[in-house]
Amino acid sequence: MNLREFNEQLATIQSVGPLAPVTDQAIYDNVIEPVYAWHPAIPEQGGKLKIAKLYALGGIGLLDSMLPVAMECKEYEERIAEARRAMEEAAGLLREVRRRFEPAKVGVKTFNECDKCGTVTDQRLHVWQTEKGEVWVCPTCNEAGQ
Ligand SMILES: [Zn+2]
Repeated sequence: MNLREFNEQLATIQSVGPLAPVTDQAIYDNVIEPVYAWHPAIPEQGGKLKIAKLYALGGIGLLDSMLPVAMECKEYEERIAEARRAMEEAAGLLREVRRRFEPAKVGVKTFNECDKCGTVTDQRLHVWQTEKGEVWVCPTCNEAGQ
């Protein structure tokens, strides 16, 4: 909504007699718009008419008294949006790390015999690429083998 749209809504309200339009852009920007945008008493559907009616009933003083609650809600909405962005960023980073460790990416090895503990298995094990070459970890003794 902008000042012109607000005054158009105001012009439709005849119940309290003819109303002078709001001409001060700063009043609109600093009071009417934030109350319209953030106050929980102003619904998304029909909010333009509702705020014009409230102005018609109580003038700018009424809307000004609604401003602290509107600004409080604005702050919470911004905190929620910020938390959502942080959560999505962390989830994306986590997906990236997990993708790097998918078995297909690190390789698998059919393990036969551990030369540390003697375990014999045909279990498929993750093979990690390291500076020393392919390394696997014995599922019994947790020792690394090559
Ligand atoms: Zn072992």
